[in-house]
Amino acid sequence: VWNNCLKFIKDNIQPQAYKTWFEPITAVKLTDNALSIQVPSKFFYEWLEEHYVKLLKVSLTKELGEKAKLVYVIKMENTYGNKQPFTEKIPSSNRSAVKSQEVDIPLNNKNPELRNPFVIPGIRNVKIESQLNPNYSFENFLEGDSNRLARSAGLAVASKPGGTSFNPLLIFGGVGLGKTHLAHAIGVDIKDKYPEKTVLYISAEKFTQQYIDSVKKNNRNDFIHFYQIIDVLIIDDVQFLSGKTGTQDVFFHIFNHLHQNGKQVILTSDKAPVDMQDIEQRLLSRFKWGLSAELQTPDFETRVSILKNKLYRDGVEMPEEIIDYVAKNIKTNVRELEGAIISLIAQSSFNKKEITIDLARVIVEKFVKNTKREVSIDYIQKVVSDYFQMDVDTLQSKTRKRHIVQARQLAMFFAKKFTKASLASIGSQIGKRDHATVLHACKTVDNLTSTDKQFRKYVEDITKKLSV
Ligand code: ADP
Ligand code: MG
Repeated sequence: VWNNCLKFIKDNIQPQAYKTWFEPITAVKLTDNALSIQVPSKFFYEWLEEHYVKLLKVSLTKELGEKAKLVYVIKMENTYGNKQPFTEKIPSSNRSAVKSQEVDIPLNNKNPELRNPFVIPGIRNVKIESQLNPNYSFENFLEGDSNRLARSAGLAVASKPGGTSFNPLLIFGGVGLGKTHLAHAIGVDIKDKYPEKTVLYISAEKFTQQYIDSVKKNNRNDFIHFYQIIDVLIIDDVQFLSGKTGTQDVFFHIFNHLHQNGKQVILTSDKAPVDMQDIEQRLLSRFKWGLSAELQTPDFETRVSILKNKLYRDGVEMPEEIIDYVAKNIKTNVRELEGAIISLIAQSSFNKKEITIDLARVIVEKFVKNTKREVSIDYIQKVVSDYFQMDVDTLQSKTRKRHIVQARQLAMFFAKKFTKASLASIGSQIGKRDHATVLHACKTVDNLTSTDKQFRKYVEDITKKLSV
């Protein structure tokens, strides 16, 4: 298999590049659809990921089909870079990988950073507050199919921080699905098991603010040193770093230092690394070093158990029928699910009313209505351009390239369909076009939808994305 890949690669790149980057690779193992290749160093691996990932993907997919996976084995450093370069979702076959991590690694109570020459004196004795919320525990984080992989990866990391291949551990998923909760749970569990470890939870937003302040106050180095002495760094909502090159830079620095010293990094994001925009490639490639685990929307059973657990903890009783009703009607966001139950309890105690299904209906309805996102033309453009992996500026540009024109026409079509804006207003907001162009776009989309299967799929996919 690998020889065939090599042939293909050789035909597609400069001979010198081929000699440098592909000749030193040896194929070591092939199981099902995963090919393991051995590379001489971590740097080598990163280079491949940054420059040749597409080529590798194409060649391997040709050989092994869509499900092809590549596993890098790094020779010199004797570590595994277990990767899913082609898809960020971890296929279910990989779930067993989580279990096989449970090998005992001896605890290391010595603090290597005390010997670290880069740590400025004085700071090492500072006790760092973890900023963890003890209520966000594993115990309170109910398990279901939607979170099983992420949850067990989190448990594995908590039992041996820095000692698994899940470094960094990146938890991603939509709003209100438990990313922050799970990230805290890992930290809380680590603090419990290893009280001597320095754990820090921080949002990417706050991290950015601290960094900006440090630059203003001229103590950027102190900022860096502070982060370098942490054993377990949890950064929430890293998508916030997009476009912030200075902060990305400093984070890159800190990340490398921590990773090299066997410290654990845990990240959360509302997107998979492949979908992150305006994040530097070198950072993205590091995000993918460890494990990316998705939190999906919980199924009905999980929603029911989350509600029951919440009620139990609050000491409130509620008829089964009502719990079912709420769980059935609020589907996409655990925060809203909890919110509805809380306002139900509040309403009933405030009005001294019994909690009835009618009351539940009124409250759930309000909840679903209030939280339904207003679809704006901006939002449509964002969703459409995300879908085609271009940015909004490209979508709006004057270019006549077919796929861009199509994306633009789709944005116009959806703007017509989902907003009350006039053709003229849609035109002016999507790249300063006139109303006739928008009309033409809508007609074209209608036509293509009925004649072109691929195109129809675009329309369906985007419709789904817009109606959550
Ligand atoms: P995110 O950070 O993904 O937006 P949060 O972690 O803030 O979401 O979760 C929103 C709310 O839902 C929190 O109150 C959290 O405790 C709760 N929650 C999410 N997932 C679960 C779960 N599996 N079990 C129990 N509570 C959950
Ligand atoms: Mg959050």
